[in-house]
Amino acid sequence: MTTVVPDIHDIRIFQKPGRVTGRVADSVDQLLLILPARPTVAHFRQLPQGSKLQGVYRKRVAGSTPAFATHLANKKQTLLVAGTISGDASAFEQLTLGRKLVAAATGQKAGVLGICAVGFEPDAQATLVNNVLAAALAAGLKLPTFKSKAAPAKIKSIRLLGLSKPLDTSRTEAEAKGNNLARWLTSLPPNMLDAVRYADVVKDLAKERGWQYKRFVTKDLKALGAGAFLAVAQGNDDDSAGIVRLRYRPGAKNANADLSLVGKGIIFDTGGTNLKPFASMLDMHGDMQGSAVALGTFLTISELELPLAVDCWLALTENRTGPNAYKSQDVVTAANGKTIQIIHTDAEGRLALADALVLASREHPGLIIDYATLTGTCVSAITSRYSGVFTNRAEWHSRLKRAGRRSGERVWPFPIGKEFLTELKSDTADFMQCLPKGAGDHILAASFLAEFVENDIPWVHLDLSAADRAGGLAHVGSKFTGFGVRYTISVILDEKLFKASP
Ligand SMILES: [Zn+2]
Repeated sequence: MTTVVPDIHDIRIFQKPGRVTGRVADSVDQLLLILPARPTVAHFRQLPQGSKLQGVYRKRVAGSTPAFATHLANKKQTLLVAGTISGDASAFEQLTLGRKLVAAATGQKAGVLGICAVGFEPDAQATLVNNVLAAALAAGLKLPTFKSKAAPAKIKSIRLLGLSKPLDTSRTEAEAKGNNLARWLTSLPPNMLDAVRYADVVKDLAKERGWQYKRFVTKDLKALGAGAFLAVAQGNDDDSAGIVRLRYRPGAKNANADLSLVGKGIIFDTGGTNLKPFASMLDMHGDMQGSAVALGTFLTISELELPLAVDCWLALTENRTGPNAYKSQDVVTAANGKTIQIIHTDAEGRLALADALVLASREHPGLIIDYATLTGTCVSAITSRYSGVFTNRAEWHSRLKRAGRRSGERVWPFPIGKEFLTELKSDTADFMQCLPKGAGDHILAASFLAEFVENDIPWVHLDLSAADRAGGLAHVGSKFTGFGVRYTISVILDEKLFKASP
């Protein structure tokens, strides 16, 4: 078996503060120009070949993105792609503009990409350039392909031009790296990334980054009584499944975790005994995206060297059919002793997560955040533009939403609680895993998961309805969006939601 090495190389970023002269513009192959919603003559005067650009701008099709595109009359025939946006546009709008401009500029040939925002206050310019940079770094990722002829990288390096002050891009770069890792792993064909090789990728990363690594295999999980995870895993024809735990400890090695990230990693979800039809099964190699987002977020935290003790739990298994696969009406016992009546074998994510949550909460972290492509009803409720957020601290709803607005990865809260468990009342076990048929499965799933968060630890659950969207979302152009990395960093750094937040 070949090993898997994620291709998440850094793209070099240079900064050139001050006026964008003709010579500065000559240094790039493509130039993204961001202008205010109503650019003035004075704005165009700050640019090389400004009157020509203003002429092209006047002939634009109103409301189009890019607003206009033209070639500069220089040696490189620099392709200039321009967009307009108001200085107080939301992060989501800025990221979306970035994605569209980058796509329009980098389609033709590989090169040095310039980014320049003219006509904004220094703070607004800094935010805008960082957001467009996020889009460029997302587009710079080469998703895994196995074509016999490899395509070259689209972006060789990036130059930030016309800055009114030096720009701190460290957070944007670290978030991009985490997001790129999540998308790279999620996009891998499922025969290239089984649960064993996935664990090996994580192990290699851990070695390289100095994280503590442990993999709980079937025998360990049996000893821990993790019968919910093992019910899903028993359908594998090999013993590949496992739960991986990572520890990032910038301070004391044995410190309790301030934060614990938990991810659903279903390598391929066939639906199990209750087999999915073809159309629903086609992209089910993406059902491990929650774990990839947890891992990507963990990488970003480590890259930023945040002064937090962080754990990461990845529940990695296939959900397959076969003589050993679990069935409807099985009764299984989770690691905290609670018993579950299996209803539908395609609701495997909540079982795999249940035991991972028990194990995570036993270590008394300050906060648990879990990520999962969990329910279709969440997509039905809010579409793939938003992800659903759920918590056992309802007073956090407005702050959780605000982190979504600030990061451009938008979430919407739903209620959970014991009252919803009455829906899951079972004759044979403590509760049913889900309803045979009925509404609000995202809420029932989250209320079910809450039963496996022990010791009343503060907990946030992301049902990643925005993880899979044709054409991409915000700054990301690929179908698998890696949604959640930027969001979580905003929860930590902007909202400082939990006691140990730096
Ligand atoms: Zn499923």
